[in-house]
Amino acid sequence: MIRDISRLSKNKFDLIVVGGGINGAAIANLAASCGASVALLEKGDFAGGTSSKSTKLLHGGIRYLENFEFDLVHESLRERFIQWQAAPYLVKPMPFVIPVYKNDKRPLWMMQLGVWLYDLLGGKYRIGHHRFLSVADITSRAPAINLDGLVGGVEYFDAQMDDARLCLENVLMADLHGAAAANYVEVESFIKDNNKRAVGVKARDRLNGQQMDIFASKIIVTAGPWSDELIEKDRPRSVKRLRPTKGVHIVYRGEISSSAFLLQSRQDKRIFFVIPFKGNTLIGTTDTDYHQSPDSVKVEEADVQYLLQEAGRVFPNINFNASKIITTFAGLRPLVADKGDPSRISRKHDIETNSSGICFVMGGKYTTYRAIAEEAVRKEMPSIASRIPYGEKYVLYGSGGCNEELKILSQRYGVSLDLVRYLQGIYGSRFGDVLNIAQGNDLLKEKICSCSSAIAAQVVYARDVEMAQNVDDIMERRLELSYLDCPTGNCRRATEEILRAHP
Ligand SMILES: Cc1cc2nc3c(=O)[nH]c(=O)nc-3n(C[C@H](O)[C@H](O)[C@H](O)COP(=O)(O)OP(=O)(O)OC[C@H]3O[C@@H](n4cnc5c(N)ncnc54)[C@H](O)[C@@H]3O)c2cc1C
Repeated sequence: MIRDISRLSKNKFDLIVVGGGINGAAIANLAASCGASVALLEKGDFAGGTSSKSTKLLHGGIRYLENFEFDLVHESLRERFIQWQAAPYLVKPMPFVIPVYKNDKRPLWMMQLGVWLYDLLGGKYRIGHHRFLSVADITSRAPAINLDGLVGGVEYFDAQMDDARLCLENVLMADLHGAAAANYVEVESFIKDNNKRAVGVKARDRLNGQQMDIFASKIIVTAGPWSDELIEKDRPRSVKRLRPTKGVHIVYRGEISSSAFLLQSRQDKRIFFVIPFKGNTLIGTTDTDYHQSPDSVKVEEADVQYLLQEAGRVFPNINFNASKIITTFAGLRPLVADKGDPSRISRKHDIETNSSGICFVMGGKYTTYRAIAEEAVRKEMPSIASRIPYGEKYVLYGSGGCNEELKILSQRYGVSLDLVRYLQGIYGSRFGDVLNIAQGNDLLKEKICSCSSAIAAQVVYARDVEMAQNVDDIMERRLELSYLDCPTGNCRRATEEILRAHP
């Protein structure tokens, strides 16, 4: 995938997509796959906004059942299945345990009804079967759990995914279908014709400051929590459409359980997760109203304390403390404005076209991104809508199996079978593209650092094929080394050296 800036201002496109998070990437992918000429503009790195800061779950949203949002749950369960079929290397079914205590707000019978209904709504899109759990079943999954008042629990299935790479796969597919995708290009304003209709955007290449005008018949803004900023650029003093809420996660050293846990906070009765994650544990999230610029969202000490305290209450035999935190991250839920408790605001999305003709896609969850993209393309580009593939035929960059035996491939490439499996778990059927880079150069087959199986060729591939512009793009969203518990702290320096040695 080439970042060809000159192409952006040379042609008039059918569609400009502003924002390269999951929604923008998928809209660009779908529209380009239907034959539209598309420009995808992202002011930072692809998935650098909310789409790499999620809890990394494709979920029906079992908790939305208590808000009676059955349509949202059913749609999400179908979409979860579609993504699992398209990218089984990035999407893994995972059992979730809900322990229930004597005085919990939601009693055991309600949870049992909930998981039963969840599977019923999933129907043929189910990815596992629920179970009712005894206290002994729960302790066998998590010996450190608090037994005081524990009356039993339930188990159900959702899926864990790699949010940044799933987004990238959509960008790579858009590129494959001929879209002009560019990261680090910021849209600064809209260009209007005499009738005040938007016909293009004024944008700036953030890598060198170059300004450009880009024209298109249609503009779709998928700026997530930045949507109000873009609405403001179109019409100053517009009423705010979003009510962003901040969600913080911590990655904690060690795996507390091989099952994921969905838990109820004692402080505010919210739901939060403790999830096995890359050999460690992901704990999150908080959910608090946020009023500042989306660019300055950060993790506060109070967020970390909340998560450590709540996790410590459920697992009292584990001495949770800040020194065992590997990393933290914060994101903003781009929720469509509503009153009341933030955690109860609907995750439904909104697709609105204003009087300038600009379409804004807001809200939603990661899980339903494909359906949101389809709805947006159908609404805004009806002439190509008939070419949109049926949902269950959704294809991503690494989709499809491998025709040859992995053992034979490992011999041909001169690498271990474990490495082939590791690469297949990241790139799906495209893992050979990474190994091809390393052909004839054994240095590129070497590990970057002792903390993971990642090899030097992946760094070069991230830069040359996946449009990574800097070490952060590689560490955080291509190879995701920043989530790992690196004992030497060497990953970053080694990555920089590889980039220097292979210009
Ligand atoms: C803490 C948290 C946990 C979550 N967990 C889950 C989960 O487990 N499962 C789930 O289904 N959903 C989850 N979600 C929701 C999900 O992550 C979001 O709905 C989804 O990522 C939103 O994607 P987006 O493309 O709309 O926004 P974003 O990913 O934020 O993308 C918007 C992009 O627009 C770019 N942009 C902004 N302004 C400009 C400009 N002027 N020019 C060019 N580009 C611009 C930004 O840089 C950004 O990359 C979670 C959200 C949060 C915050």
